[in-house]
Amino acid sequence: MKLSGACLCGAVAFEGEGTGHFHACHCDMCLRWGGGPALGAPLTVSELRGEDALSVYASSEWGERVFCRTCGSHVFWRMRDGSQAFAFLGALDQADELTLSQEIFTDHRPKGLALAGDHLRLTEAEFLRSIGAGADTPD
Ligand SMILES: [Zn+2]
Ligand SMILES: [Zn+2]
Repeated sequence: MKLSGACLCGAVAFEGEGTGHFHACHCDMCLRWGGGPALGAPLTVSELRGEDALSVYASSEWGERVFCRTCGSHVFWRMRDGSQAFAFLGALDQADELTLSQEIFTDHRPKGLALAGDHLRLTEAEFLRSIGAGADTPD
């Protein structure tokens, strides 16, 4: 499905193709960076306006976190090799139309926080096994 989004101050706007789904990540990096779980929707970006307003933080050897340098909005998480990108749910105009499909690092989920619905729930070990990784974390 077609997705569009923007940061809070409007300096950055984008369009692209999504899957209709988003996932929630409770890993330690997402919690520390975002102050809570990261909600990310897979996105193939077709148009990006205001790219020079974006800051990029390389949080691991393979992943980077992209945010607006003016308002601080979290815009993308993406592979540093460009092979995969996720838009953060709050930046998307169609957030209400997307379905939570997967919750990962559930063993790191903040106490008292539960996400409703019938979706896949994976602990850190289960998630790493599912992507064929060893002890490394995906972020
Ligand atoms: Zn902004
Ligand atoms: Zn994470």
